[in-house]
Amino acid sequence: MTRLFIDGSWCEAATGAKRSIINPFDQSTVAEVAEGAEEDVDRAVRAARAAFTGGRWSRSTLAERAALLNRVADLLQRDKEEIARTETLDTGKTLVESRVDVDDVTAVFRYYAGTIDALRPRRVDTGQPGVVSRIDHEPVGVCAMIAPWNYPLLQICWKVAPALAAGNSLVAKPSEITPLTTIKLFELLAEAGLPAGVANLVLGTGKAVGAPLVEHPDVDLVSFTGSLATGRWIARTAGEAVKKVALELGGKNPNIVFADADLETAIDYALIAAFLHGGQVCSAGTRLIVEDRIYDDFVTEIARRADAVRLGNGLDEDTESGPLVSAEHLAKVQRYAEIGQREGARLLAGGHRPDEKELRDGFFFRPTVFADCTREMTVVRDETFGPIITAERFRSEDEAVELGNDTDYGLAGAVWSGEGDKAERVAARLRHGTVWINDFGPYLPQAEWGGFKRSGIGRELGPTGLHEYCEPRHVYRNL
Ligand code: NAD
Repeated sequence: MTRLFIDGSWCEAATGAKRSIINPFDQSTVAEVAEGAEEDVDRAVRAARAAFTGGRWSRSTLAERAALLNRVADLLQRDKEEIARTETLDTGKTLVESRVDVDDVTAVFRYYAGTIDALRPRRVDTGQPGVVSRIDHEPVGVCAMIAPWNYPLLQICWKVAPALAAGNSLVAKPSEITPLTTIKLFELLAEAGLPAGVANLVLGTGKAVGAPLVEHPDVDLVSFTGSLATGRWIARTAGEAVKKVALELGGKNPNIVFADADLETAIDYALIAAFLHGGQVCSAGTRLIVEDRIYDDFVTEIARRADAVRLGNGLDEDTESGPLVSAEHLAKVQRYAEIGQREGARLLAGGHRPDEKELRDGFFFRPTVFADCTREMTVVRDETFGPIITAERFRSEDEAVELGNDTDYGLAGAVWSGEGDKAERVAARLRHGTVWINDFGPYLPQAEWGGFKRSGIGRELGPTGLHEYCEPRHVYRNL
């Protein structure tokens, strides 16, 4: 059984409770893990605080921290196949996607190792003789990290790498459904030589572990990736205690296609944008917004290709899309498909579970395409987090922008056009944290990621993602 990692040791949960981890492809048990609770959280936070105060990591040199981050990156690559396989067994996503995740997080560890000099004190020009002044970048202290189930390894690494670079201690809580690659990450952190107590891992549910972690008086910062509903509660709770908080929440991301775009490429990417990992992606491009004069042909072709998507076991190299993560999530996506039809969207593809016998035990749902959608429809407004495209039409540039911004979220969006100036004009008016032009999906370790509006507070990645984990200290000195 896999256990919790507290103060440098693997240990049982205080209550001895366990949880089975299920493969969403066939519902087989992949592993048994310890199921933590409030006492475990308290032990982990105390260990993190003692390590922080002890100073072996919080007062280490930047060179020591960079060396450790690079060692973790090397270990992630050494064990890439094993980690990718584990991620696929745990989440259902394809091996190709899981391998990309391992490469991406390796790049994130290397990025923060390579840019750690940003933490050197910054001299401030006082303009006064006999006075020197500087900004130090101090670690915040004990950071709580709570991650969702859709990108388990990736989301936790986006937090762990910058937090460690800045010298913090941490307690991580992965989703209770998909903890396996986070457990592996903690094995690698220990192997890389991170001092005991700096990084601690408590497995368990949001209620039993996540909430006590957020509420713990000795936690200085909460970094959360997950749903808007949980994020709201965390913002309230952390606000009451005046704790620092960073929130990466949901998205309802417009994919805007003008008639003058390279349509063949736009169609290829529209399918990937919406159906990658079964649409269980915060930046999924499930809201397709297409110029009127190409709309009918465009959505007909999207539907034809959606019908051809090969569902299957993520471990099979020719699978294009795996199952959804859980029975509960499948039921939620099914409900949205029903609501779409009830509200008058025209079903062009999918809308049901697959018929194949060999997919019967998995949490599969056919890629679904709705046409004639309008902005008031629930499927257009809510983050369905499933493989459901809704297609709306626009007649002018202004209308495209208006529709693209008509959402409570503001995480990501894309514009497709052969006219560079037009694409730039539209991009500049979209209220989303990332805008792709003639592409969909790439992000870079060196570029900030996060949301406008209700998609969150703060940013991950890039220089800002590092400074989220720092307290600037101004030292003003008379010589
Ligand atoms: P969720 O909010 O249900 O759970 C996320 C995590 O929070 C889990 O670890 C869960 O156990 C924990 N949690 C639940 N209740 C809690 C509480 N009261 N206190 C503390 N922790 C609690 O979200 P989910 O269903 O796991 O993930 C899907 C959501 O994540 C989607 O909305 C998606 O858009 C979002 N997401 C956002 C990004 C981003 O970069 N913005 C990335 C990935 C996923």
